[in-house]
Amino acid sequence: MATSQALPLARQRLAVDLYVPRQVNPLHELGILFNVVRSVENFAQKNGVSQIDTLVLQIGELSPVVPQYIRACYPAAVDGTLLQDTQLKIEIIPGNALCRQCQKVFNLLKHPHGCPHCGADQWEVLSGKEFMIKEIVAC
Ligand SMILES: [Zn+2]
Repeated sequence: MATSQALPLARQRLAVDLYVPRQVNPLHELGILFNVVRSVENFAQKNGVSQIDTLVLQIGELSPVVPQYIRACYPAAVDGTLLQDTQLKIEIIPGNALCRQCQKVFNLLKHPHGCPHCGADQWEVLSGKEFMIKEIVAC
């Protein structure tokens, strides 16, 4: 019986052009996925993994990577690679900010113009810019 094993990829950050302005261009996501595939294949080779069941990505709400394009491009990007026939799981990381004035946390997508608690327009982004390979689940 096969046991599956989750292999964290050390929350590996990918060297992709994440901070370019958001563009509606699925080719952007396809290019990112090619980098993901390359990273996973390198990781699998180093760790003696020959079969992968699931790939888990984390995508921040504030990152320019569009999850629906990642999903749409996935089958094409993994075709003929080690990730062919694997499941893709995407975890969304909320785009949260800390208000510099009242120190409360709020969601930047829901409140793009400032803090909903005190109205201040100065904040620090806490999370949501991530794009990471969280883990692969080996067969
Ligand atoms: Zn505030």
